[in-house]
Amino acid sequence: MPNALELTAVSKRYGQSRALDGVDLTAVEGQTIAVLGPNGAGKSTLLSIALGLLPPTSGTAAVFGHPPAEALRRGLVGVLLQESGLLEDVRVDELVKATAGMYAKPLPVEHTMRAARVDDLARQRIGRLSGGQRQRVRFALALVGDPRLLVLDEPTVGLDVDGRRALWQEVSARTAQGHTAVFATHYLTEADDYADRVILLARGRVVADGPVEKIKELVGDSEIHVTLDRPEADALGALPGVRQVRVEGGGAVLRTKDSDATLRALFAGFADARNVRTAGTDLESAFVSLTGGE
Ligand code: ADP
Repeated sequence: MPNALELTAVSKRYGQSRALDGVDLTAVEGQTIAVLGPNGAGKSTLLSIALGLLPPTSGTAAVFGHPPAEALRRGLVGVLLQESGLLEDVRVDELVKATAGMYAKPLPVEHTMRAARVDDLARQRIGRLSGGQRQRVRFALALVGDPRLLVLDEPTVGLDVDGRRALWQEVSARTAQGHTAVFATHYLTEADDYADRVILLARGRVVADGPVEKIKELVGDSEIHVTLDRPEADALGALPGVRQVRVEGGGAVLRTKDSDATLRALFAGFADARNVRTAGTDLESAFVSLTGGE
């Protein structure tokens, strides 16, 4: 069985600038992959190459063993791109139905419209919809062909909380059935909550690739929150393991690479230390650390 997506040594240059630099990526079926990275890291370029919308300067891309454009033609891929244009003068239900007609085995239109939460907009013209409503229509169009691979670029931009939840519910239902989803997002919590694998891009390269927990472990630091009468950054910064101190409120937050050693010394040296709480690294801290603070 060919992989859902396979990028091999993919590079993309625009003149002198390198948008992607030797990216390898293999997505097996059933995975939900988040592509993360600062602005300009190459996320959109990577998704565009995976969809066959942009040729790589070097390297190869394959989707279910086909050239990406061929996979798209065969209806294997559903796509939601940022700000892609929609026909303005047609009704939502007409657009979803017409799109369904382009696929060999589409999902039932009614079902798709309910899943994407556009059933209540069925008779509205696209031109009259809000940004969030349009985004839901784009999602319906991505789903209706019942694709084995969903490629979503910032899918929840403009959606309210309910719309976001509905979208991820549907994506999760599909991946639970063995379908694959690759999405780019700015919302790290979405990667944390919904992706079983994160690919972190910086300056066109993959700087980390693995389950969210593994990405957090790569950084390894944890945080100690402590209340103190007179928190002094210098004294706290000298404790074993501490990399960084933030004095805030009536206490401090210590970032440490060895929380056991830090805690022992903290209690030994600071009689007024209380309300101590430790937490593992969150994805945001890992992101900042691995992408060089961009
Ligand atoms: P991201 O989606 O992570 O923000 P992009 O893939 O859009 O990153 O861009 C990666 C790099 O390629 C950036 O430095 C961007 O300026 C550059 N780039 C993207 N598209 C073009 C283009 N059409 N012409 C020139 N440079 C581009």
